[in-house]
Amino acid sequence: MSKSKSVLTRLLQIFPQWRPQMYFKASLTALSHAMEDQVLAGLEEPLVIASFQRERFYRQEAQRYRRIAQKSDQVYVLAAPETEFKNCSLDYETIAFDSDDTLTEEWHLIVLGASYASCLICQEKIVSKNQGMTGGIDNNRRFEGIWTFDRQVTQQAAHILLNTIVEYRPELQEKAEFARQQYLPPDIVTQTVAQPNNIDNTTWDVTSNNPDPFVQRLVTYLQAGQYKLIKANRSLGDKEHKERLINSVTTAIRLSLDPDEILQIAVQKLGEGLGVCRCLVYRCKETDTTATIEHEFLNQGIASIKGQTWPLKHNPLFQEVVELRDALTIDNAIHDPRLSREQEEGKLSGKSLQILVNSCSILSWMLVPIFYRGRLLGMLELHHCGPKPVTWKEEDVGLVNAIATQIGVALIQAEAYANLQDLNEQLEALDRTRSNLVAITGHELRTPLSTIQVCLESLASEPDMSPELRQVMLNTALQDAERMRKLVQDFLTLSQLESGRVEWNIEPLDLHECVDLSLSNVRARHRETPLPKIENRVKDELPLVKADGEWLVEVLAKLLDNACKFTSTEGKITIEVSCNSPYHLEVTVSDTGRGIEPKRLETVFDRFYQEEGALRRSTGGTGLGLAICRQIVRGWGGKIWAESQGKDHGSQFHFTVPIYADQMSTEPPKPTVTRSRQSRTKTKGKSKKIS
Ligand code: ADP
Repeated sequence: MSKSKSVLTRLLQIFPQWRPQMYFKASLTALSHAMEDQVLAGLEEPLVIASFQRERFYRQEAQRYRRIAQKSDQVYVLAAPETEFKNCSLDYETIAFDSDDTLTEEWHLIVLGASYASCLICQEKIVSKNQGMTGGIDNNRRFEGIWTFDRQVTQQAAHILLNTIVEYRPELQEKAEFARQQYLPPDIVTQTVAQPNNIDNTTWDVTSNNPDPFVQRLVTYLQAGQYKLIKANRSLGDKEHKERLINSVTTAIRLSLDPDEILQIAVQKLGEGLGVCRCLVYRCKETDTTATIEHEFLNQGIASIKGQTWPLKHNPLFQEVVELRDALTIDNAIHDPRLSREQEEGKLSGKSLQILVNSCSILSWMLVPIFYRGRLLGMLELHHCGPKPVTWKEEDVGLVNAIATQIGVALIQAEAYANLQDLNEQLEALDRTRSNLVAITGHELRTPLSTIQVCLESLASEPDMSPELRQVMLNTALQDAERMRKLVQDFLTLSQLESGRVEWNIEPLDLHECVDLSLSNVRARHRETPLPKIENRVKDELPLVKADGEWLVEVLAKLLDNACKFTSTEGKITIEVSCNSPYHLEVTVSDTGRGIEPKRLETVFDRFYQEEGALRRSTGGTGLGLAICRQIVRGWGGKIWAESQGKDHGSQFHFTVPIYADQMSTEPPKPTVTRSRQSRTKTKGKSKKIS
């Protein structure tokens, strides 16, 4: 069957004075019901032709048509079949038209009796989703066409439809002919759509042909009500969309405590939800000069600007947002005065901003700050890149603002969580320290304490003890008391250094003197035991350094002590100073002893680290020496590190000391001190202070 031409188009060709009107589906339903009711309530036997777009629409009305068929033999129902609908002659005639027929786009109802005539000939207008079909409400469907009581129009429409009916069901030719004779004027049969000029248009007056102004008003009222309903639906739909978007962003970002993940989810959801070309978010403070774009959402075909540096300090738009503490929108970046301004002091000129805008193809721009309790955490940006500018709606700005608030909260939560994790790690470290301390105390304090106790008890309970044995007892008790004192001393020193309660006395120093002092300290401490060979290779001429003398001697003494402890008497210890930089000297204490495994080179500086564990050690010591050294060296802004080729390959401990700056300005790294320089000494604890 050939596709029939739109009935509305044909009718309008015949009656060019008629202007089609817009009708909502709800209005058409009400009108067609009114027309059908007129048939049901009357005594006439009218011609009724109803054309439904689809079978499903007809099925809702099938019951009514069975009742209408009881009134008249001339009832025709047309529809595009979906399941059961077919050509049939039961209570009334059903005509199944092709699914590609233009009839599928139209809705027709013709009621033609002796005393009344009305017709409804409408075509569905496909409305885009954004234009009000919100919430998928069927009543919002729009039609355009003619609804009238005009007999001539109704007759002409009936004529066109009867032709279509006979085309689809030729067997109804006779019945249709009978209808024509009964309801249509004889001349209409000869009128053809192709000859619209045959019609005497002057007789058609749109307004006067309407028999009932009251009905017309009712229809207008109905239409207005429907329009209001659509508007209300649209606004409800917008609100629902907004709420859904905020909820989905909030839910998604609450699932994460990772700031980067939060920001990526936020731009993705927001960009998709608002259908923008580009959505960016970057973290920034009010005082930042620039920001790096780390998270972006891109619509198809839009160029990425991820990784780019965005100007902030001299960017008048950013500054305006910070000042306003609110969102800023630019509908058309080409015509915005801010982007064409001349350079103002300390600001990017409009021209420079235009370059930025052009390079990123920004046409419509929205900047929304992310604040938390008045503190700027970042910025959300939405870009439309054309071809047409977009007018930002107030509700869009409100929505992005609401999401920015949620992002602010999520970022602060993530920050708090990260701080909590740091604190937890610190607590765990503290706990480990405490456990270590207990272990050390158990071993290092209890063992000498027991020895001291045994010695003193023996001395007290055995008056007949020989003087030699008495002396041995006393010496043992004294040695162990000294061991305990050292542990307590180291522990206190480290706590003082770590808590920053140390008063540094930074002054110009001669390294030779420090080395000499530390060497004599070590030798004095190991007077009783044989030591490996210690070679002092410090060059004669060296610049002065800037450090605290007492602490410098302490570091040297500890490194030398360790070297002695972990090197056999056949081995060798060397102390050297190199001047490889204009800013600091590098001191190295090397030994040929037991060495350190490469993976332990960092760990040896941890508190209480001892390779064999505190409980199994034979060499004594507290495991605090290197931790103390690291704190001291950091105190004057130096570095300390260890090197070793591994087990039994010896070790080298290096640390840096800054060169005294005043001498640098006059005679840069040139050696200024020789070994002949005199030293003054001042005793404090076990180390000496020099000046
Ligand atoms: P301790 O009092 O145990 O010596 P330190 O903090 O001074 O404490 O040293 C920590 C650990 O580092 C030592 O127990 C040892 O295992 C390792 N260590 C330090 N100096 C040397 C060295 N010169 N040679 C080999 N190992 C060393």
